[in-house]
Amino acid sequence: MSHAPQTVAQSRELLAVDDIEVIYDGAILAVAGVSLRVEQGGIVALLGANGAGKSTTLKAISGLVQADRARISRGHIRFQGQDTAGVAANQLARQGIVHVLEGRHVFSHLTIEENLRTGGFLRRPSRKALEDDLERIYAWFPRLKTKRKTQAGLTSGGEQQMLAIGRALMTKPSLVLLDEPSMGLAPIIVEEIFEIVAQLNKQEGTSFLVAEQNINVALRHASYAYIMENGQVVGEGVAEQLAARDDIQHFYLGGSAVK
Ligand code: ATP
Repeated sequence: MSHAPQTVAQSRELLAVDDIEVIYDGAILAVAGVSLRVEQGGIVALLGANGAGKSTTLKAISGLVQADRARISRGHIRFQGQDTAGVAANQLARQGIVHVLEGRHVFSHLTIEENLRTGGFLRRPSRKALEDDLERIYAWFPRLKTKRKTQAGLTSGGEQQMLAIGRALMTKPSLVLLDEPSMGLAPIIVEEIFEIVAQLNKQEGTSFLVAEQNINVALRHASYAYIMENGQVVGEGVAEQLAARDDIQHFYLGGSAVK
């Protein structure tokens, strides 16, 4: 009988990162002993300053570490119950993990709509399905519809971030890894983006793991958060409770997270 709660907990688990270590160029230890969980339908924040290891952790999960001449030298990552070791990034994307990289990577010479279509190709949908998917994304991001024929490079930073997220959603992911969506954007645009993420989560059940330096906005929209420093998780907890802690607020203002 005592096993029952654990079984329920495991069945809600979408992603489990267990004690991973990531090494760049066979020498630089960027992440050491990181463990975290994302439950089905969760929004989890991965917080920390520049260089804390957030991006590396996300790349380890999406399989993109290999592209950076890095490797996971210890630990395990499980997605939907399966160990992802040795699974290529494109295969993980097919299984439902999509990574929105830091810095709004869009094809600047393509229009907004052409960019979105590139996101749809992974699943090789019919013409009709692709059109339906586009309309779905436009319903979430009306700004993108208004500018569908505009070259992506000519749109604002906020629109490019929405485009990067919208293109990722074209793959119909179950887990979106979002790397610093707030970077370089005005607070009002950041709020708009996090609000859309929260609605997507609520209405479509999409799970998110969001790396952020902007602790306040992330804690307001996440359910649970991990705090990273020097490649390690140094704190974790329910977002609401973390937001109320003085030491976390101190960290947000540029100090150290945990004494
Ligand atoms: P940022 O917000 O700047 O991306 P971060 O928390 O995401 O910060 P990472 O980018 O994961 O941190 O960096 C963690 C550590 O790994 C840093 O010490 C960094 O110098 C190192 N690192 C990151 N990318 C590389 C790389 N391509 N080659 C070598 N070292 C790297």
